[in-house]
Amino acid sequence: AKEQGGGVYEVFSCELYQAVQRRVLIENSLRKALDRGEFRLVYQPLVDARGCMTIGHEALIRWRHPELGTISPMEFIPIAEETGHIVEIGMWALREACLQTKSWQDEGAEKLGISVNLSGRQFQQPELVECIEAVLAETKFDPKLLTLEITENIAIHNERHVMSKLTQLKQLGIKIALDDFGTGYSSLSYLAKFPLDSLKIDKSFVQNIGGNAGEKEIVKTIIGMAHSLNLKVTAEGVETEEQLAYLKQEACDFAQGYLIDRPLEPEACLEQLVRRNGL
Ligand code: C2E
Ligand code: CA
Ligand code: CA
Ligand code: CA
Repeated sequence: AKEQGGGVYEVFSCELYQAVQRRVLIENSLRKALDRGEFRLVYQPLVDARGCMTIGHEALIRWRHPELGTISPMEFIPIAEETGHIVEIGMWALREACLQTKSWQDEGAEKLGISVNLSGRQFQQPELVECIEAVLAETKFDPKLLTLEITENIAIHNERHVMSKLTQLKQLGIKIALDDFGTGYSSLSYLAKFPLDSLKIDKSFVQNIGGNAGEKEIVKTIIGMAHSLNLKVTAEGVETEEQLAYLKQEACDFAQGYLIDRPLEPEACLEQLVRRNGL
């Protein structure tokens, strides 16, 4: 029994050690990853739920680590937020996404939008608004076609500060979307308080549309409530025809998900734009 106990302990400590080692490696590599060109963006189409025309894309970051291979943003973004690297990475992503989308606009998709995720940590950067303004000027990107996706946890610490920055961004013409709606603890109070243009229903709700009537009712209620506050609604994580049909029926404005398209490489986006929008 003693031996067995020791064995269990060793397995545990070994796994723990590996997890710590991986974390340290990720932390240390984050600093160099930008310079080494290890990040890239993929783009997931957002379609008009009725006509199914692409109205824009969400830019999603990908990291190919030289030793660890592909690392999910769900793993490294929280680490980059802790270390502060997200400030630089976030600005890189914004610039890259604007450049890419500008090139599609120049190909003929004049009104094509782009949505970029903005981490709460980026609000701690004193020049956040000025930096975003500079990227828009440099890339000659129309601010009205840019949506910044924020989550409700951005304002946990300094609500007044965040509010003032959001207001400044809105004054530039930028649109603000509340991401992952319904998963936080204070969703409702944020809706009226924040200067929002739209909200994205979290995929956990969308994926329950096939389930019981109560869960459908939640989605319907969110859409109705958003519309009464003059907000547009995007459903994320749409995977089935049944979900899309229900969303259409309930007048959801935009849809995004594997049913429509997976996140795509830029080349595939252009092909898709030609096919779907007749570019
Ligand atoms: P998110 O902003 O909620 O992005 C949506 C996630 O859902 C993406 O995961 C997307 O690939 C995935 N998705 C899209 N359609 C479907 C579907 O039909 N079914 C399912 N099951 N999933 C779907 P991804 O790309 O792994 O990104 C994960 C998270 O990482 C994002 O969640 C976002 O919070 C963060 N992230 C990604 N790129 C950036 C970035 O450039 N900056 C920041 N701050 N965060 C980012
Ligand atoms: Ca998002
Ligand atoms: Ca989301
Ligand atoms: Ca999310």
